[in-house]
Amino acid sequence: MFVIDAYTRRLFARLGWIEGHEDYEALRARIESFLGPDVPLYQEYHALIVHHAKGICRTRPGCERCCLAGRCAWPAAVAAC
Ligand code: SF4
Repeated sequence: MFVIDAYTRRLFARLGWIEGHEDYEALRARIESFLGPDVPLYQEYHALIVHHAKGICRTRPGCERCCLAGRCAWPAAVAAC
């Protein structure tokens, strides 16, 4: 099963893919439907999420040096505040 943790919720919410407060099982099922039934892929994908969340997309995100900035909703949302 794909692990939905705080890193996953924070990153996906900032990217604009989820609201961030979705039910655990609903979110897990949604992500698994995108990835297909591939447990090793779930593990690799989650490891990449954790790596990105700890290194770049931290509590105070480093958007200026993020490879996802061009696809992410967060920088524009922050700029609009
Ligand atoms: S652009 Fe910023 S908010 Fe979006 S994923 Fe990168 S670090 Fe996180």
